[in-house]
Amino acid sequence: MFKDIVDFVHQLYKTEEFVPLHVPRFVGNEKKYLNECIDTTFVSSVGKFVDRFEEMVAEYTGATKAVVCVNGTNALHMAMLLVGVERDDEILTQALTFIATCNAISYIGAHPVFIDVDKDTMGLSPVAVEKWLNENAELKNGVCFNKHTGRRIKACIPMHTFGHPVHLDELVAVCNKYGLELIEDAAESLGSFYKGKHTGTFGKVGAISFNGNKTITTGGGGMLLFNDENLGKFAKHLTTQAKVPHRWEFVHDHVGYNYRMPNINAALGCAQMENLEKFLSNKRDIAEQYKAFFANFTDIEFFCEPKDCHSNYWLNAVLVKDKEMQQEFLQYTNDNGIMTRPIWGLMNKLPMFSSCQTDKLENTLWFEERVVNIPSSVRL
Ligand SMILES: *Cc1c(COP(=O)(O)O)cnc(C)c1O
Repeated sequence: MFKDIVDFVHQLYKTEEFVPLHVPRFVGNEKKYLNECIDTTFVSSVGKFVDRFEEMVAEYTGATKAVVCVNGTNALHMAMLLVGVERDDEILTQALTFIATCNAISYIGAHPVFIDVDKDTMGLSPVAVEKWLNENAELKNGVCFNKHTGRRIKACIPMHTFGHPVHLDELVAVCNKYGLELIEDAAESLGSFYKGKHTGTFGKVGAISFNGNKTITTGGGGMLLFNDENLGKFAKHLTTQAKVPHRWEFVHDHVGYNYRMPNINAALGCAQMENLEKFLSNKRDIAEQYKAFFANFTDIEFFCEPKDCHSNYWLNAVLVKDKEMQQEFLQYTNDNGIMTRPIWGLMNKLPMFSSCQTDKLENTLWFEERVVNIPSSVRL
């Protein structure tokens, strides 16, 4: 059975060589734009590609404003600062995520609380969030507090796992009911839509990543998405050392951050954005082929986009029968030239977060033992 899978992936990527999990593709204007940066000397913190890249992403996602960052992790850090998260606040998020979500929470000195995910999205469950809040939170003058720890619960950070959107309408409703800020970790979901609206645009701030393994890449990079133009402008200010514009004076009116993406990375981003639609339909085609192929197996299920969603299928995933089969799958494929990976180790099992509050995490634990990611690069 595993041999059939290995053969299928080799045939899908038309190669007998090693097939990596996800690699970037540079088939457009990347070299031309990079050369332009070098020829004009605009490789660093100023240049036209930064503005152009922000405009392209804002237009594509429907965000009022988009602001570049050096990477997705500091985009998340910035998002947290912008909605007013403070030291010792509690932040509701999922244990089934990449470490960056929780690292960003820790940079502020806030505490993650790990809530279960939904079976059909692999992302934060609004039902589980509401249940946890009903049992543990109280509102005092519209501010949400944890009855047991006394801490303020300030925000909720869902992550759209592998590009599959969480149940956003329901999550927005729970956040409104409890006065929580919604920050979307949309690092993996550029090109993913929920009921026709782009992920990352449902809360006050959304954060995207352009790391080398994401749907499109700037080498390293991130982007903040805003519906509130003024908050976006303030983000631009904070990510550029909070410098007050002046032709020669150095005046700074806040503790700022050097989080602005260099022009040379934005140049790559512009070239990649020009091919985004092409990449997305290519990835959808791969997902459809996997889906048809895995339909022949009784113990393996291909993970499909949730209802009412259009996923980018950034990283394809299958669910196997149990942990034993997951280990066999990983062993056989990695031994035979196909790179596969389990889902991340759960955040609440890491030493830094092992004493954080959690709910029962039933679905989270279920996924941990069953998910295998399979090669998903755009096919040339
Ligand atoms: C990739 C990723 C990030 C951000 O990563 P950077 O490498 O800092 O750009 C954040 N959260 C999740 C879930 C990710 O997958």
